[in-house]
Amino acid sequence: MCGIFGIYGHPDAAEITHLGLYSLQHRGQESAGIVTCGIGSSPRATRTMGLVSEGLKVGEIADMHGDVAIGHTRYSTAGSSTIENAQPMLARFRDGHIALGHNGNLINATEMRRELEDAGSIFTSTMDSEVLLHRIAKSNADSPEAKLADALQNVEGAYSLVVVIGDTLLVARDPRGWRPLVMGKLGDSYVFASESCALDIVGAVAIREIERGEIVAVDRNGMRSSKPLPPLEGRQCVFEYVYFARPDSRVFGGSVDRARRALGRRLAIEHPAPGAEMVFSVPDSSNSAALGFAEESKLPFELALIRNHYVGRTFIQPTQAGRDAKVKVKYNAVTEVLKGRSVVMVDDSIVRGTTTKGLVAMVRAAGAREVHMRVSSSPITGPCYYGIDTPNREELIAANMSVDEIAATLGVDSLGYLSLDGMLEAVPFGPDGFCHACFSGDYPTPPPADPEKLRFGCGC
Ligand code: 5GP
Ligand code: SF4
Ligand code: MG
Repeated sequence: MCGIFGIYGHPDAAEITHLGLYSLQHRGQESAGIVTCGIGSSPRATRTMGLVSEGLKVGEIADMHGDVAIGHTRYSTAGSSTIENAQPMLARFRDGHIALGHNGNLINATEMRRELEDAGSIFTSTMDSEVLLHRIAKSNADSPEAKLADALQNVEGAYSLVVVIGDTLLVARDPRGWRPLVMGKLGDSYVFASESCALDIVGAVAIREIERGEIVAVDRNGMRSSKPLPPLEGRQCVFEYVYFARPDSRVFGGSVDRARRALGRRLAIEHPAPGAEMVFSVPDSSNSAALGFAEESKLPFELALIRNHYVGRTFIQPTQAGRDAKVKVKYNAVTEVLKGRSVVMVDDSIVRGTTTKGLVAMVRAAGAREVHMRVSSSPITGPCYYGIDTPNREELIAANMSVDEIAATLGVDSLGYLSLDGMLEAVPFGPDGFCHACFSGDYPTPPPADPEKLRFGCGC
């Protein structure tokens, strides 16, 4: 998964992009980067492995003087975690330069890459996104937006893009609109970001979302919008509301906080927990849903698990002892809150079940009398091909066990997942227009030719 940011026409474009990336860190922690160009600078790039706060150097960014900038934060699996795969990419071609940052996954990247390689193209990364650079460079169209439109014809899959061609900033969203992208203004400058929380941090005012299938170009003549791609049915990712986006953001036209609370309330209606004395979340991703559950069931919301914020997602231990310690390094239980009580533990999702199992054991060890687990999404039964790094079907607990079997494996007294209908009715967009493939099996595209390669060699 990834976060993208872009700004046009600001003397501090690189610094503002740097700030914006702080608010997109949750969308990707493996690498980060900024490219600048425009007035005052030839194109320059800085990229780093790791976090925005640790890897990107303030001094270097202060020397990036162009008034156009794009930025990227990236999360992927370990196999493709290399600096060659950090974005934004920057390349030179006959008409100048192209820079590109991508959030999503291209379903037919393998085929497109083979075609390009057969014709002599060489690649510097293993990312699906790099095929877009080649396709833009090959286009004979005369305007930057026509070049991008050319490049995107017949590209299947999920993309929200920030692109620079020459001194034109472009953004685009695929016709199904899998990933969010919002437009704002900071004074006279146009700003684009995956989520509105990245506009807030730079002081920009949100104007509107980029529409599905829309390309927006900004240059010295102003802003232009076009919709050159064949329209398709909307498939915005419901998991953005469930887990991925930040609760202080608005995505897909709705508030993430309000969506999560509605999911939690609906969960309390579908799966009440009679006799329970209080509700707690698995911080931070399920905080809002747990609040919704507590509000609806008129139970107190307690802080029963404390999360260590200094442990990244990349804490990986090769030994069994280390793996067992992983949950304890990230979370600890508050005995005084849990001892002797019947409790509801709310989480937003269960993927493999390994973290959850450890947490249930921890909550029991702290003295909870009964543990009722409630999940504010449906069981995840299939992988995502559209930009979220869920594991293969074999590793997904709900793809291989019934709810009763999962409850027994986790060691809970009861387990309730939100129904598919309940989940889709609770989110602001309504039941239509969403992708829910990993929950329902209703995939809007055929699976990619090489799903493994997609996981280990993709842009996001
Ligand atoms: P599990 O019990 O399946 O090992 O972990 C469940 C936890 O993983 C939940 O707290 C949920 O918020 C979190 N989660 C859900 N999706 C993702 C994801 O794509 N990446 C990561 N790192 N965590 C996730
Ligand atoms: Fe989102 Fe799941 Fe669809 Fe992937 S498969 S885009 S995670 S709803
Ligand atoms: Mg979580």
